Amino acid sequence: MGDGTVTAPLLEIRDLVAGTRTREILRGLAIEIGRGEVHALMGPNGSGKSTLTHVLAGRPGYETRAGSVLFDGVDLLGLPVWERARLGLFVAFQHPVEIPGVPFREFLAAAAAGRGLGADAVEGARVAGIADRLHLGGLLDRPLNVGLSGGEKKRNETLQLALLGARLVVLDEIDSGLDVDGIRDVAAEVLRMVETEGLSVLVITHFARILDHIPPTHTHVLMDGRIVASGGAELARELEVSGYEHFREPAHAPPDVLDL
Ligand code: ADP
Ligand code: MG
Repeated sequence: MGDGTVTAPLLEIRDLVAGTRTREILRGLAIEIGRGEVHALMGPNGSGKSTLTHVLAGRPGYETRAGSVLFDGVDLLGLPVWERARLGLFVAFQHPVEIPGVPFREFLAAAAAGRGLGADAVEGARVAGIADRLHLGGLLDRPLNVGLSGGEKKRNETLQLALLGARLVVLDEIDSGLDVDGIRDVAAEVLRMVETEGLSVLVITHFARILDHIPPTHTHVLMDGRIVASGGAELARELEVSGYEHFREPAHAPPDVLDL
């Protein structure tokens, strides 16, 4: 560095075409997220928001046909899942998995080890403090996510995020299982990391409500697998009033069914 080059974005999604084996869902998606930026990705049900989450996380069953995703300049899609986490990508799924038989504490220790952190990262006063702020109570000793309410699962994930550290967090509809108090607690923790650690955030949602708590620096509108509009925080507020319909492309072929 020092040669005058502009710092590259932390996440650079270029012309991403991806979906399942039989179905094209993302049809040329492009987004760039800089350090410390909070991007809102908004779109109606079925527009491909969770598919993006799955592709970024490397979930089996999703395939990329074209385009690329660079994370801090590294080709993310070529990496196994654990290396993506180690680089600093944290994905909070819309529907977190339940893992019977694994207490949350043990899961945290394993996740810390996978990221090259010592056990002390997930023990002691630090954990207690964050768990307290998130009102997690006795959840630490229960099997991971088993039988928890949607809101409790999201609080669990937020604790993982805060403890394990990340450079970019993707929050997929975390507001869907959370009540107002939950949204406020989770948002406060995420914002704290934005402000103190320069965390970058991709907030995926179809309601603008969560954005009152995590104000975006950028907003993108996703329709049928493509970004159809980008702007600042005002775009999210506009959407709340006007809805998505007027962003729809003029009808031609049905968009996302692949000819086989
Ligand atoms: P969103 O999160 O925006 O509601 P999704 O990314 O979940 O949208 O889904 C986009 C479209 O792709 C939907 O029509 C959905 O049914 C379809 N889809 C997503 N995942 C799969 C899958 N694993 N198999 C088949 N269809 C899928
Ligand atoms: Mg979704």
